[in-house]
Amino acid sequence: MKLSIQDTFNKELPADPELSNTRRQVHNACYSFVTPRVPSAPKIIHYSKEMLKAIGLTETDAASKEFTQVFSGAEVLEHTEPFAMCYAGHQFGGWSGQLGDGRAINLFEVIHENKRWALQLKGAGATPYSRRGDGFAVLRSSIREHLCSEAMYHLGVPTTRSLSLALTGDKVLRDVLYDGNPAYENGAVVCRVAPSFIRFGNFQVFAARQDYKTLKELTDYTLTHFFPHIKERNKEAYLQFYKEVTQRTLEMVIHWQRLGFVHGVMNTDNMSILGLTIDYGPYGWLEGYEHGWTPNTTDAQGKRYRFGNQPKIALWNLLQLGNALYPLIEEVSGLEAVLKFYQEEYPKKRLEMFRQKLGLQQELEGDKQLSNELERILHLAETDMTIFFRNLGNITLADDVNAAFDKIKFAFYNFDNISDAVKLEWNNWLQVYLDRLRKEGSENSDLHRKERMNKVNPKYVLRNYMAQLAIDEADAGDYSLINELYTLLKKPYDEQAEYEKWFAKRPEWARHKVGCSMLSCSS
Ligand code: AMP
Ligand code: MG
Repeated sequence: MKLSIQDTFNKELPADPELSNTRRQVHNACYSFVTPRVPSAPKIIHYSKEMLKAIGLTETDAASKEFTQVFSGAEVLEHTEPFAMCYAGHQFGGWSGQLGDGRAINLFEVIHENKRWALQLKGAGATPYSRRGDGFAVLRSSIREHLCSEAMYHLGVPTTRSLSLALTGDKVLRDVLYDGNPAYENGAVVCRVAPSFIRFGNFQVFAARQDYKTLKELTDYTLTHFFPHIKERNKEAYLQFYKEVTQRTLEMVIHWQRLGFVHGVMNTDNMSILGLTIDYGPYGWLEGYEHGWTPNTTDAQGKRYRFGNQPKIALWNLLQLGNALYPLIEEVSGLEAVLKFYQEEYPKKRLEMFRQKLGLQQELEGDKQLSNELERILHLAETDMTIFFRNLGNITLADDVNAAFDKIKFAFYNFDNISDAVKLEWNNWLQVYLDRLRKEGSENSDLHRKERMNKVNPKYVLRNYMAQLAIDEADAGDYSLINELYTLLKKPYDEQAEYEKWFAKRPEWARHKVGCSMLSCSS
């Protein structure tokens, strides 16, 4: 296994001088050195071929003992110094102080084809930041993270990636629903990959402690390696950085809204400074289109992180990042202008995204109302988001309202119980939509429109029950469904007729099942 290792984070930034692996507050340092725990019987059960290639490895490498050893935490490569990052964060709207990588251990950075990749094990044991946690991860949440990161990448969403999924051979105790019923589960380790895992919270920790020296060092490091076009190190440069993080975060959230992805825990420690989707925990995919839906039972009360709230929460998180960067910028008006930019830009991007989903190329007056109305009636009767938008592309200009309705009705969960009043609302909307399509230029033919719509409206996403089926089989020792879903989700926009069975609404048994509609932060 030959990797071109070129570490920067643990070479250029200040380290915690304390080397013992004890839970503690760490000051004036960006990370603490820590060694992964050696698992008792490591076994790689899946890896991403794309990611393997991206870091310069081959399938022969993936089959080697060394690969298993290194990416399960059993062995530390020579000349590398694994570490856990120090960060803080706001969790569910409140300040939590120091958090840090409680169960993530960064191994090394690799350069391949001029791209930098940081590799990190999740679930490889405790660190100085583990607080009350054990530093481990269970198989179910690791399968969810591994599959979803790769699926999101293929959907075109900025995201951290996943190289491999390993069983540790050790058992981990978890109380899935926090109801006093803990049970032992299979332990697992995922090797996550991203250009960098720096989060909003990495900046917040130094600002909160008024350690502006380290705050500046971390910011300068981030600019040097990830925003190299920003050359200066002055107020304007830091403000430019803030603006670019804002733009990237907005892009990311628009993708989530386009696809019906609900992150579930948008705490500031789970916000990547590169605008990547990070920390796949109790995330979920909309089945019925519902602004109020969250898969996270830990958030069931306030539903802070519900689908429809994500764009607002991203803004709230950006405000916190702005506060953290303030000592470097010292100019409230500049920071406020960036937040105002987000507020003005979001409705524009949202409309642009809806136009694409609806197959509209021209920008006409009533489009905003058309999309608002659609969102309203999607809530009237449970309508599967993915199936609805995918099938909407089958509508042709020759269709009348009835023909159009026939094409989308497969998306309703309980078609027989839909009231006439709701059907009428749908007919009205479809009539307006058909009229609107007819205003498009002749180049927007049925065929071309469908082709374009199919590039933004996926046919397949990792529905919660699909992941759960893969988890149940894996718990029984069969990993083939993990590979089937991984393969399916590499081409989410393609028809893939051989996988048609996955183009299906959530089955009824999954409606209230733990893991399918109910997930918690226990992972
Ligand atoms: P989350 O919001 O779930 O990403 O995690 C919040 C914080 O808790 C982070 O600092 C994690 O590293 C930490 N954490 C979560 N689970 C564990 C665990 N099992 N052991 C140690 N730390 C954990
Ligand atoms: Mg986290």
